[in-house]
Amino acid sequence: MDHDIIIIGAGPAGLSFARLLADTGMNILLIEKQKESTLAKPDYDGREIALTHLSYKIMQETGMWGRIADKDISLIKDAKVLNGTLDNPLFFDHRQSGKENLGFMISNHHIRRAAYEAVKPYKNIKLMTGEEVSGVSTGATSGTVTLKSGKELTASLVVSADSRFSATRRMMGISTDMRDFGRTCIVCKVKLDREHDDTAYECFFYDRTLAVLPLKGKYCSVVITIATKDAHLVLDQTPEEFGDEITNRMEGRFGNMSLDTELFPYPLVGTYADKFYANRYALMGDAAVGMHPVTAHGFNFGLRGANTLAQEIIKHHDLGLDIGSEDILMRYNRQHRQHTLPLYMGTNALVGLYTKDTPLAKLARKTLLTVGEHFPPAKRMIMNQLTESKA
Ligand SMILES: Cc1cc2nc3c(=O)[nH]c(=O)nc-3n(C[C@H](O)[C@H](O)[C@H](O)COP(=O)(O)OP(=O)(O)OC[C@H]3O[C@@H](n4cnc5c(N)ncnc54)[C@H](O)[C@@H]3O)c2cc1C
Repeated sequence: MDHDIIIIGAGPAGLSFARLLADTGMNILLIEKQKESTLAKPDYDGREIALTHLSYKIMQETGMWGRIADKDISLIKDAKVLNGTLDNPLFFDHRQSGKENLGFMISNHHIRRAAYEAVKPYKNIKLMTGEEVSGVSTGATSGTVTLKSGKELTASLVVSADSRFSATRRMMGISTDMRDFGRTCIVCKVKLDREHDDTAYECFFYDRTLAVLPLKGKYCSVVITIATKDAHLVLDQTPEEFGDEITNRMEGRFGNMSLDTELFPYPLVGTYADKFYANRYALMGDAAVGMHPVTAHGFNFGLRGANTLAQEIIKHHDLGLDIGSEDILMRYNRQHRQHTLPLYMGTNALVGLYTKDTPLAKLARKTLLTVGEHFPPAKRMIMNQLTESKA
């Protein structure tokens, strides 16, 4: 056997999973089609990732958090959800959560760099970059990964963390629920005239959703979700037109809002694999669950899943048991599905409700916000999801 574990894809999920197992001394191979220089210094991609307290804990324990400068870590203290206008928000107040803030904000490129740097010092983790996986198969005692070059590598367990469009998941015959929302998410960084008070705004307008997420200083991340056929209405704007429009939509609450970066469009497709494992094989990160970003759970789920599987493997490894056994993989599958499926379904239902313009849908979302505001258990459940730090 060449390796204990082969991980396909050195995105944030694959790297975090490798780091979580690093101290076991297991012989781990990460295969990534991008160049190593890209992993070491990823470009800014417009994504500012909202992180839960559990993600904070895992990133601290794995040394990823410490590799991100304080100036690049922002806080979300409170959050307001608005429907149509900026009046009567559903208000999530951090004081009701017992924590000093609901969550954190870090740029995706800083997370990716930190994950790479956290893995790099470990001699038992080998990074094979600039190599694309073209085949995977598994048998009773090992899995085999084939590279485009034709080379074959074997391991006790193969893990795919190769994105929501995972080609290796398909090669392993795992069917996947895919939902093309027909919408595009456009993200960018914006400079403000006034303080944001570390408050996140999620505004459901009738033609689009607009999230304004607090960043250090007088900056924010703007996330617009719009029908793909209308995305050009945003993407073709001059920076001045763009700034004027969001300033108006936010009713001047932050003074003038001006574009600080380019606009980054992401087509929105949600994916949920029918199972997260096969014989000596597991799915990780977006390859298992590819979330719509409106509820900001994608990487948080990726980290949680990586931690769940890593803990199961460590328990078996410490006892000298088979780390690719079905027992481990079934437990990971059950725990990760239990946690992610309700949120995946709930997010898709929310997206459906907030993108329909029928009178019934408008009434339903107004009712939802009113009930949410006056029904503390519902609010508490959402806040717990953000602030709990137990895996
Ligand atoms: C606009 C937007 C906003 C978001 N906001 C949030 C947020 O606020 N909070 C949150 O938690 N999440 C958020 N997310 C989700 C988050 O960005 C993803 O969940 C996360 O980046 C997925 O990481 P991953 O490692 O699973 O996959 P990826 O980042 O897609 O990495 C997969 C890796 O596999 C490699 N690869 C693919 N195929 C092969 C192959 N055949 N051989 C070798 N290598 C291969 C790729 O090159 C890549 O490096 C957001 C996403 C978007 C688009």
